[in-house]
Amino acid sequence: MKITRITSHVMQYDLPEELGYSQQYYSRRTAHLVEVETDEGLVGWGECFGPGNVAIANKTIVEKVIQPMILGDDAISRDVIWHKVYNLLRDHGQKGMPLQALSGVDIALWDIAGKAAGMPLCKLIGGPHSTRIPAYGYGMMLKRESVEDHVARFRDEAAAILDMGFKATKMKVGLGPKDDVRLCESVAAGVAGKGRFMVDANHCYTTSDAFYVGRALDELDAYWLEEPVAPEDLDGYRELRAGLKVNITGGESEFNRWGWRTILENRGLDIAQPEVCALGGISEYLRVLALAHAHFTPVVNHVWGSAIAVATNLHLLSAMPPLPGGLNPWEPMLEFDTTHNSFRDDLLTKPLEIQRQVKETGGYVSIPDGPGLGVEPDRDFIRNYRLDV
Ligand code: CA
Repeated sequence: MKITRITSHVMQYDLPEELGYSQQYYSRRTAHLVEVETDEGLVGWGECFGPGNVAIANKTIVEKVIQPMILGDDAISRDVIWHKVYNLLRDHGQKGMPLQALSGVDIALWDIAGKAAGMPLCKLIGGPHSTRIPAYGYGMMLKRESVEDHVARFRDEAAAILDMGFKATKMKVGLGPKDDVRLCESVAAGVAGKGRFMVDANHCYTTSDAFYVGRALDELDAYWLEEPVAPEDLDGYRELRAGLKVNITGGESEFNRWGWRTILENRGLDIAQPEVCALGGISEYLRVLALAHAHFTPVVNHVWGSAIAVATNLHLLSAMPPLPGGLNPWEPMLEFDTTHNSFRDDLLTKPLEIQRQVKETGGYVSIPDGPGLGVEPDRDFIRNYRLDV
């Protein structure tokens, strides 16, 4: 089965309100879907991580750099294709945008492999280990408002997200360590023992500021502190993990097995958060997962983007072996963004309806059961939101 065409669909819309995290405010949502066509009529869909103009640059890599390398190649031989592309791009970027671009293509090839085999992705990988995945809802974004307004809003929003049925909730920080502790206290009061809460710093702290916030989180019984310091700061991660009770998590901005080998051997993460749409796709994710488990580091996938990314992650979470196993094993969770996202809620001909599932099941989401990713994007929807670049 030969690859006949690869198309990037970059979609964008203006959000109803501006949202922020510790690095910036943003007012548009972008999604980058990759469509791979074959001479047997099978079509696969993938997704590349990367918002805004990064998506436009990644589209160029997908269509102008990767496509010419693999046109006419056997679509089923996805591992051969992965290594062909990686080896040819190695001199031009072993991390970052070339890997994000390759990720979207690789995911589409796995979708094709599943469709060719007539099997859902989780079965093709060897699962399912579980048929429903607990979900956590993230929200509590930064806005251009006072600290007092943040404090009041975060408490209400944390309670509201748990009331939607989510098992846990995750907040942003980034106002500065002292104000951030006030936000964390507010969210702890909002969840009031009804569920876990986690804190995402998006790598805005120095190590000492991360200790200051982390010690408060130890007292507040937060479940994890995510990306406390810059991903390059391996010493900072290791010192924080050794010195705090709260779980230290991170890794969403790490790429491929070699990058992950370094951060796992560093012993700085309690929980690893690989991003399949960035680190190199499903082929590389499975190697990173094996590496993480070889270090006895549990994994909770980082999830961002459209319904294609959510479906991909549902299959991967379902196919994830238990670590270490048991009658009541430690479970990964599906990360779910509770802010406005039409690319997740309205893209598919048959929507995943995650919020409805979470409400009805008390926090669980089922795995799409069709072959491949088991989801079909609506081409009219894509046309309506597509950026012509
Ligand atoms: Ca994050």
